[in-house]
Amino acid sequence: MKTVVMGAGAMGSLLGGLLTLSGEEVWLVDIWKEHIDALRSNGLSIEDQGEIRTVRVNATEEVTSVGKADLVLFFVKTYHTEKAVSDALVLQKENTIFLTLQNGLGNEEVICQQIDRKKVLLGVTNHGATFLGPGRIRHAGRGKTSVGELDGEMTDRVAQIAQVFRKAEIETEASVNIHDLIWAKLFVNIGMNALTALTGFKNGQLLHYPETLRLMEALVSEAVEVAKRKGIRIEGNPLEKVKAVAEATRENRSSMGQDFDYKRKTEIDAINGAVVREAECLGIPAPFNRAIADLVKAIEKNF
Ligand code: NAD
Repeated sequence: MKTVVMGAGAMGSLLGGLLTLSGEEVWLVDIWKEHIDALRSNGLSIEDQGEIRTVRVNATEEVTSVGKADLVLFFVKTYHTEKAVSDALVLQKENTIFLTLQNGLGNEEVICQQIDRKKVLLGVTNHGATFLGPGRIRHAGRGKTSVGELDGEMTDRVAQIAQVFRKAEIETEASVNIHDLIWAKLFVNIGMNALTALTGFKNGQLLHYPETLRLMEALVSEAVEVAKRKGIRIEGNPLEKVKAVAEATRENRSSMGQDFDYKRKTEIDAINGAVVREAECLGIPAPFNRAIADLVKAIEKNF
């Protein structure tokens, strides 16, 4: 299976690197010249618990030079998805599969504006990666990856991708309820990301104060209400899950926290902002998510 990764940052390089190591043909595509040059000259360096592995990878800035793909994996930030999808159209043949493992809501809609939805799969991953510099990433955490059809059917192509990923030591399940899993991860991002960005806290510090706990609860309960109205099945108690993740990752800064630290644009529109949009469509209020999203966006405008 020839795989093309659109967006070879932290996560795109990680999955692309692991698939390459397992013997798959993989192309990493990114618009950042310095990074692509480093990948081509020195290979991809993956730091993992102090050990460094170097992988020879195919890397290019020119998506038109890659030919056709069996699988296209989107790993750009959500605000770059639309452009990455239009760039990726040249990779398309009759049976090309387009898969997103990005965070947040709205990736499906953005991809399906340009690509026949029959060709699109969704997924969610609990791996974590950090970009260290051109050609260098850290594998920061492991967890399950899930992949599924938009309509929840179990198909051969989903099973095949899961198998290819598992061969690359990416623990993956073929899922029949991928939207539920995307929301389950979204609840965690809703409860932690913007709050850590705005406060400057590490994840675990959110649990130390009644004020941040109250905000976390309000943000998550608005999102849960939206999800329920949309028919999403919710397993367990999402707020308790957010707290457990904050505790388990207590020393980390969330991705949005890091975006604020480095004065980078955030994925707020795909996280709290997406809940606000969905709530509006349903005609229900989401005032906490609106306030938090507005604050993040206003601050971002000064970066
Ligand atoms: P990143 O910023 O490290 O990488 C994104 C890359 O996309 C950049 O290198 C950028 O140059 C490139 N890019 C932008 N536009 C492009 C285009 N048109 N064509 C090709 N490349 C383009 O981001 P990341 O941390 O790898 O995150 C990617 C996605 O995965 C996000 O949605 C994020 O929420 C999600 N995610 C991240 C993690 C993590 O631990 N980092 C974990 C799970 C999910």
